[in-house]
Amino acid sequence: MTPEEFRKTGHQLIDWIADYRARVEQLPVMARTAPGEIKAQLPDAPPQAPEPFDAIIHDLDRIILPGLSHWQHPRFFGYFPSNGLLASVLGDYVSTGLGVLGISWQSSPALTELEEVVTDWMRQMVGLSSAWSGVIQDTASTSSLVALLCARERTTNYGLSRGGLQAEAKPLVVYVSAYSHSSVDKAALLAGFGRHNVRLVPHDQNYAMRADVLEELVELDLAASLRPCAVVATTGTTTSTALDPIEAIARVTQKHRLWLHVDAAMAGSAMILPECRWMWQGIEGADSLILNAHKWLGAAFDCSLYYVRDSEHLVRVMSINPSYLRSAADSQVKNLRDWGLPLGRRFRALKLWFLIREQGIEGLQARLRRDLANAQWLAEQVRSTPNWRVLAPVPLQTVCVRHEPPGLEGDALDRHTQAWADRINRSGLAYLTPSVLDGRWVVRISIGTASTEREHLQALWQAMREEAERQT
Ligand SMILES: *Cc1c(COP(=O)(O)O)cnc(C)c1O
Repeated sequence: MTPEEFRKTGHQLIDWIADYRARVEQLPVMARTAPGEIKAQLPDAPPQAPEPFDAIIHDLDRIILPGLSHWQHPRFFGYFPSNGLLASVLGDYVSTGLGVLGISWQSSPALTELEEVVTDWMRQMVGLSSAWSGVIQDTASTSSLVALLCARERTTNYGLSRGGLQAEAKPLVVYVSAYSHSSVDKAALLAGFGRHNVRLVPHDQNYAMRADVLEELVELDLAASLRPCAVVATTGTTTSTALDPIEAIARVTQKHRLWLHVDAAMAGSAMILPECRWMWQGIEGADSLILNAHKWLGAAFDCSLYYVRDSEHLVRVMSINPSYLRSAADSQVKNLRDWGLPLGRRFRALKLWFLIREQGIEGLQARLRRDLANAQWLAEQVRSTPNWRVLAPVPLQTVCVRHEPPGLEGDALDRHTQAWADRINRSGLAYLTPSVLDGRWVVRISIGTASTEREHLQALWQAMREEAERQT
């Protein structure tokens, strides 16, 4: 494809994306695809001869689009939102079009420096002190792994330069909550702590970690000759957006010199609203934190921001410095390969830069405030309707609900809950992802897709009542 051919086809594809966004509301939100249905429509073997581009676009419409659930749909209420605002989509285009890599500062100076600038803008936007510095990782999963590797190396005083974890006299222990994201568990296991050394700290009635019990567990482990190493706290858990008490947890981690990692993957975006910052009160006492700009905020996936207070420590843990990557500028610049796992780095900062500039802080704040108000509206409808319950506090944009008809309990209630959510999903009207809270199924309504307005919630609430209250 020549640049001229690219111009023509590229315009066509921009139109295709614009049309998609304009009409996505008309499509069923959840894919109705049966397992294997897409593969069956695609050739087993790659084409021998070149194909015209039109044929590819034709198959995009015919095969691929019907096989998707639509995350940008205004009635998408599943998981957490993953907004790709169109300004950031264009930033991603430019990144790919430039095709540059940041394997060192010198390999693309503007890539590194813009990343420093936008992560610092975001730091200011969420009200963190200048003690923090940030880097863009692909996902929160990677960021949590990096955090626990840094915790491990601080506790062992850089054991990786000697015999690693295998040479440690005492097992290192990590503390998480039962409502931590699965990626935290995965990070702890992959960082080598071992299942037996991952403690689940009990939670209170609001599903938040109990700092008093955390302290007891740490002391029990010390008495048993183990080495407490790190605590992962969550601001905005995945099931119910519960808020672990960061300030009280930080008192424990500081007293015992443990690493505190805060997973604010979803809720971190809300900290651009000063009225939400109480939710991570005490955050300055943490060592690392994550905030996914690719969720509620609107940067096209993937764009996870990882912040640390001691960047020298991070670099010391992550740096491997072969001769072919060194340059004369190294003493004056950041080499972001030393701030995470991969060597190659895409120009992800562009999509965040485009987004922040096109929206302004005010634009981003207004949208998030709209979503918070929508969540309160829905919670109010549910609370004031007989046989309906809101099961957890609603500090943010997620509402956990259940329809509890008289006489229905236990497994029968679970089946009812899953059945009405499933009926809504299969109707194509909306997409909901149920989850387990206190051992029982609840339906999570996660608000915050950029196109979701009050009318879409009204339609959802009506469908919920029809599907759940209908006699079966
Ligand atoms: C979404 C989420 C994650 C995982 O995010 P990825 O970027 O997909 O790895 C982790 N923790 C919390 C609290 C989340 O909401």
